[in-house]
Amino acid sequence: MSEDCIFCKIIRGDFGTEFVYETDNTVVFNDINPKAPVHMLVCPKKHYPSLNEVDNKDLLGELLQTVREVTKKIGLKSYRTQINTGREAGQEVFHLHIHILGNK
Ligand code: 5GP
Ligand code: ZN
Repeated sequence: MSEDCIFCKIIRGDFGTEFVYETDNTVVFNDINPKAPVHMLVCPKKHYPSLNEVDNKDLLGELLQTVREVTKKIGLKSYRTQINTGREAGQEVFHLHIHILGNK
């Protein structure tokens, strides 16, 4: 938990954000400013500022497994995934997340 991290607050339930899907170590919620008809964000519950700081291979596998499970759950067969790492690459929220973008 990072006190000034918006995604940590979402994950803690501060804003009552609905989770589309959840596992022991990951959560999925809809992007507040969707850039496609389906735009979800897959996050680890633990705070990592970006992919560069992750030291846990199992967690990386679980994040991709969560992508598979949540897309299956909502019946989305075709989708794009994106991870922005670093400000210059367009990262705006410094809590690791995988974008899932799809047309429903
Ligand atoms: P980044 O550019 O860091 O890869 O992506 C950050 C994403 O988080 C953006 O697509 C933005 O719309 C989304 N976002 C920023 N603040 C919030 C928020 O408070 N709630 C939700 N659900 N999404 C947010
Ligand atoms: Zn965080």
